[in-house]
Amino acid sequence: MENKFDLGIIGAGPAGYTAAFHARAKGLSVVLFEKDKVGGVCLNKGCIPTKAILHSAELYEEMKCSDDLGITCSDIFVDYAKVVERKDKIVEKLRKSLELSLKNSGVVTVNAEANVLDNRKISAGGEIYECEKIITATGSAPRDFENLRFDHEFILSSDDILNLKTLPKTILIIGSGAIGVEWARIFSAFEVEVTVVELAEHILPLADIEVSKRVERIFKAKKIKTYIANSVEKIEDKKVYLSSGDVLEPELVLLAAGRKPHPLDNALSCIGDACGKIQLAHFAIKQAVAEVSGVEFNEELVPSVVYGCPEIAWVGKREQDLEEGTYKKSNLLISALGKSHCDNCSDGFIKILSRDGKIIGAHIVSKEASALIQQIIIAMQNNISIDDLKKVCFAHPTYSEGIFECLFR
Ligand SMILES: Cc1cc2nc3c(=O)[nH]c(=O)nc-3n(C[C@H](O)[C@H](O)[C@H](O)COP(=O)(O)OP(=O)(O)OC[C@H]3O[C@@H](n4cnc5c(N)ncnc54)[C@H](O)[C@@H]3O)c2cc1C
Repeated sequence: MENKFDLGIIGAGPAGYTAAFHARAKGLSVVLFEKDKVGGVCLNKGCIPTKAILHSAELYEEMKCSDDLGITCSDIFVDYAKVVERKDKIVEKLRKSLELSLKNSGVVTVNAEANVLDNRKISAGGEIYECEKIITATGSAPRDFENLRFDHEFILSSDDILNLKTLPKTILIIGSGAIGVEWARIFSAFEVEVTVVELAEHILPLADIEVSKRVERIFKAKKIKTYIANSVEKIEDKKVYLSSGDVLEPELVLLAAGRKPHPLDNALSCIGDACGKIQLAHFAIKQAVAEVSGVEFNEELVPSVVYGCPEIAWVGKREQDLEEGTYKKSNLLISALGKSHCDNCSDGFIKILSRDGKIIGAHIVSKEASALIQQIIIAMQNNISIDDLKKVCFAHPTYSEGIFECLFR
């Protein structure tokens, strides 16, 4: 009797806990199973800890050129153990607050590995739970390969890298997706010698080609060495053999070449990373809301954000996927915006692709790109024409007015 619930959810990452909150708001009784830590990868090993470390990296980078801004700092140095300690504190604080919110909203959280027995039964911690409905949100894990296994000492995963207590002198990052680019940017800010190996023809291969090329330029300026169209054949005795014949000897290797979904057997309903579609926290959250509250969303309009330097964000069509002559392209350099000079951050561009007066894709490399892309998505989702967007009053001086300026190009 005690173990009967309207909804059983396996996995307490963004997908699972969002589903739990929404189900409770509808008055359903909810049991949420988590084998590790509430908050999932996002809170404990992904979005949040990386951004906490990134903030320290950004501050350090800014302080190094603060002289130009009229502020003289002497004796700046990085105490990396403290950077990591701060990250841990932020994660812990947020996790406690999430645990409390779940408790206060009446979600029963069970800290145990769970399995789906049939479409109404879950087993966990030696007990059986009967649930009217079951949602699985079991996430994903770092991917390694037959010739390239994590040893967690020299070949590290994105989980391992979060717990370094000291900075290496050199690091090789395998893979230049969001995680690889973000860590390249963090380590390079901390003056670690960074090398990136990418199998595809360009860095950040999922991005628009102009974005990739810009990131390559930025990497070059930051002395981040890249080996593109190249793969790691093997690693032996801490020597990394590339397909090009180059042999590298970094102090550490971060293998950031994708994540494998973790779906459960017998699962009827699977959301978030585990479902193997888009592996982003906001996608997981939207799926959870759609599943529980029926608020649908357009899967074509999910923003991608990469926390490079500056930020990178995009949505919709990429230029390389469009047929010539079937679209209009508008470009604006961020250096055209007064605010960018005030902020000492004038690198980047806004590119808007449109067809028949409507935006079909946007690609932004700019400070605040993560916020800017949202404005474009609201316009696209609501079918707002470029002519109507031109009527909107954008504040000055901002990066947003870059969108406005770009619409007139
Ligand atoms: C380094 C890094 C940085 C990232 N940065 C961003 C970012 O900036 N923005 C963004 O949108 N996304 C980012 N992501 C991706 C984001 O973390 C994931 O998309 C998100 O966490 C997926 O949420 P989820 O709920 O589907 O799965 P998860 O967060 O993986 O949660 C799944 C949970 O299920 C639990 N679980 C699994 N099996 C069982 C079982 N049998 N019983 C009980 N519990 C189980 C796991 O322990 C885990 O806690 C990042 C990822 C990484 C690795």
